[in-house]
Amino acid sequence: MERFNVDTCKRVKNWLESEVKRIVIIPHVNPDGDAIGASIGLNDTLLNAGFDSMVIVPNDYPSYLSWLGAERAPLIYEQNKEQCHLIIDQADALFFLDFNDAKRLGKIEDYLRDKSIPIVLIDHHPDPQIEAEYLFSDTDVSSTAELVYDFVEAIGILGHLGPIGANALLTGIIADTGSFSHNASRHSTYRIVGDLINKGADKERINESLFNNFSEKRMRLLGYCLAEKMEIFPQYRSALIWLTAKELTKFDFHPGDTEGFVNFPLSIKGVVFSAFFMEKNGIVKISFRSKGGFATNEFSGAHFNGGGHKNASGGETKLPINEALDLFRSLLPEYASQLKGDL
Ligand code: 5GP
Ligand code: MN
Repeated sequence: MERFNVDTCKRVKNWLESEVKRIVIIPHVNPDGDAIGASIGLNDTLLNAGFDSMVIVPNDYPSYLSWLGAERAPLIYEQNKEQCHLIIDQADALFFLDFNDAKRLGKIEDYLRDKSIPIVLIDHHPDPQIEAEYLFSDTDVSSTAELVYDFVEAIGILGHLGPIGANALLTGIIADTGSFSHNASRHSTYRIVGDLINKGADKERINESLFNNFSEKRMRLLGYCLAEKMEIFPQYRSALIWLTAKELTKFDFHPGDTEGFVNFPLSIKGVVFSAFFMEKNGIVKISFRSKGGFATNEFSGAHFNGGGHKNASGGETKLPINEALDLFRSLLPEYASQLKGDL
């Protein structure tokens, strides 16, 4: 793994300056605050530094993130395939942000399969599975946004990080740490946050847009999930919430509406593992969260074609939702000893 050593950064810098004219930045499918924030933060800084750069997101992202970098909005691959193909074909470098597996490129994966454009991977997930020319991977950092800050600093273009980039990167850090409640115990995170605020990031606006921006229907959907659709398994210190496509239609679902719902059961005393299942585009998409030692990414990888971080991961299955839920329930006894813990 190539960490941020001086040598690698020098090589990247030389390569970018001598051989790279056009850059395309791609975050993971179903992009969240960190994926969008890191991408827009990097893009804006590269543009300010004189590079020709563009963000292409695999699919649409939540509207509460749309104020970030609105002047240079990302292109959405699923809505503009032809235009995205032209842009990708002209790129000399692809930056992949906030994912460790090509599957997370969504529908872009097929198009990129035969291309040989050099890849720079900037990510904080364990075990990157992507063949990258340059790999900046560190699982200790709060977010990919924090790594992007380190990256632009290391290649000498931090001076070009302005208010747009600062808002985007701080959004990534706040989103991935749940407003500094997890993965946020390193001093360097706060040094970076301090500098982002200095560069014009508006912490209040970011918090408002991320956490206090529910539509009425979204708030009612959350209430419905907690009141009617939450199952608690006290003996396994686990919780489960699920939503069918029909329920999502009833509550006028928009992308991002269920973001964060999986965290709520962890506020119940004693619950250390939470799962959220939802029917989406003909499959079941799943989010897992834990507190303490339970490795949700291993659980997700072993049973639900997924992965991610120890305490926050996801997966998917083609099983009908009822079978997927039964599978989840039937697996808990197998994990009883790991779910004991000391929280
Ligand atoms: P979320 O639950 O917010 O969708 O995803 C949480 C984390 O789990 C993401 O940051 C990502 O690391 C991981 N993740 C989510 N869905 C998948 C998936 O389908 N496959 C893999 N490998 N990781 C996922
Ligand atoms: Mn992230």
